[in-house]
Amino acid sequence: MEIPSIIFIVVGILIGVVSYFSRMYYFIIAAVGFIGWGFFKIFKRKTSKSILEPDKLSLKEEKPYYQNDYKAKNTIPCPSCGLRHYSNANYCQNCGTKLK
Ligand SMILES: [Zn+2]
Repeated sequence: MEIPSIIFIVVGILIGVVSYFSRMYYFIIAAVGFIGWGFFKIFKRKTSKSILEPDKLSLKEEKPYYQNDYKAKNTIPCPSCGLRHYSNANYCQNCGTKLK
């Protein structure tokens, strides 16, 4: 499981606050490091997402056969909702009405 980047930022802020009040200022470097790493992870994830988006768009949604509007010879319409099914279907996949 990956550690959420917000955890790094929160931990960084906590280290920063603690180091400030305890006057251990060199810990602020670690705090800045944590915060920086957190933001870097968010940025990296956003960039990789935007790269992946065109692939998602290129994927075509495939409709089930009974939602196709072409009227093939071996299909029969549902008497209740009108969706077309293969003639060997016993029940409507949309409303459950018996087709035979
Ligand atoms: Zn139906």
